[in-house]
Amino acid sequence: MNTLKLDLVIIGGGVAGLWTLNRAVQAGLNAVLFEKDALGGGQSVRSQGIIHGGTKYALSGVLTQASSTIKEMPQRWRECLTGKGELDLSTVNILSDAHYMWSKGSLGSRMTTFFATKAFSGRVEEVSEESRPDVFKNKKFKGSLYRLNELVLDVPSVINALRAPMEDRIFKIDLLDCELEKESDVIQSIALPTHQLRILPKQVAITSGEGFESLATSLNLQQPEMQTRPLHMVMVKHNLNLPTFAHCIGAGSKPVATITTHPCADGNQVWYLGGNIAETGLERSSEAQIAFAQQEIKALLPWVDLSNTQWSSFHINRAEPKQSSLVRPDAAFAQKVGNCIIAWPTKLALSPDLADQILPLCADSIDAAENQNLHLCQHLPKPATAQPVWETSFC
Ligand SMILES: Cc1cc2nc3c(=O)[nH]c(=O)nc-3n(C[C@H](O)[C@H](O)[C@H](O)COP(=O)(O)OP(=O)(O)OC[C@H]3O[C@@H](n4cnc5c(N)ncnc54)[C@H](O)[C@@H]3O)c2cc1C
Repeated sequence: MNTLKLDLVIIGGGVAGLWTLNRAVQAGLNAVLFEKDALGGGQSVRSQGIIHGGTKYALSGVLTQASSTIKEMPQRWRECLTGKGELDLSTVNILSDAHYMWSKGSLGSRMTTFFATKAFSGRVEEVSEESRPDVFKNKKFKGSLYRLNELVLDVPSVINALRAPMEDRIFKIDLLDCELEKESDVIQSIALPTHQLRILPKQVAITSGEGFESLATSLNLQQPEMQTRPLHMVMVKHNLNLPTFAHCIGAGSKPVATITTHPCADGNQVWYLGGNIAETGLERSSEAQIAFAQQEIKALLPWVDLSNTQWSSFHINRAEPKQSSLVRPDAAFAQKVGNCIIAWPTKLALSPDLADQILPLCADSIDAAENQNLHLCQHLPKPATAQPVWETSFC
């Protein structure tokens, strides 16, 4: 067996692991990433791709911790998208330079007063009739429309931009298939007998999303605990050419519907429906969930002709650190146990914040003398990038 000393082994190739890998290598760490299946194939490629700035979280009319932590994220991503930020994401496909918020009636004095406060200055802007996106240009649209300082990205292109500079450091390996030598909470070695390789990691970052549950059992980790919050998402495939990127808000503290629009390989587009439609649909069958979503969309956008559309739905969990009463966590999360760093971004948008938290936990791991040995893993298998769910859901 060959032996390879590494500063950092990252488990899980979603946006969290890939962002962390790039930042770790930049910081001088000799790091690799193991992905058990396809890169981004957990939550990342199935997300709506919104780089939130926290406005949605302020719907309750109170500026929460979540909205202040996430506030800086759109700017950090925008710098990366121009190639001038901490990472180069200049090849990423930007689906929309803004996300919108609309209500059927007037937004209500509570929200308009709140949007006018200093906390929201530069983050929310009322849209004049002439500047509305096409989908809201219909005469029947009577509501208020706000433009948020948020953007929407094509996530597979984010995954590809993050993988490209790290190609020689990413491998298709399931940690559960490896032989681990552990003393107390320290993973001393990771052996891959079929590949004749034994890795001695200084640190192991576990960014495995929902996969943490089985890893925690296998590694006998009692802390941190994970929670999952399920969704029943709906997709509408069509060729309406009405790109829609918006939260529709009602009286509650969560959007009634969040709609994003994604290109399909066959030239059609998909409206991807989240928000309350997805959160309340857990007990509905796929047929009932689709019927419910059709009714909601007809009520929200009654002028759109839905007769030539195809519908599909699927269930997915969001995986996060456990909170009291299953509420949404406020920020990215990383906790060190022995030499394992267990981390969840809790939002795709918070990946930069997650790397900020992980890197200081690895600060004493850099071993420049060992930095030349990566060739020992070049025979390991390589993962593909995951396909969007709408490419496989419609026959
Ligand atoms: C429907 C939906 C919509 C969302 N929309 C948004 C949005 O618009 N904006 C936003 O900011 N956030 C959004 N989110 C949240 C966001 O998608 C997640 O916070 C983020 O993608 C999590 O990234 P991750 O890398 O931690 O997890 P994942 O993307 O799930 O990646 C974990 C990876 O670990 C791998 N893995 C698991 N176990 C092992 C193992 N034993 N060995 C090796 N690899 C392993 C998995 O195969 C997987 O690829 C959304 C989430 C969902 C579900």
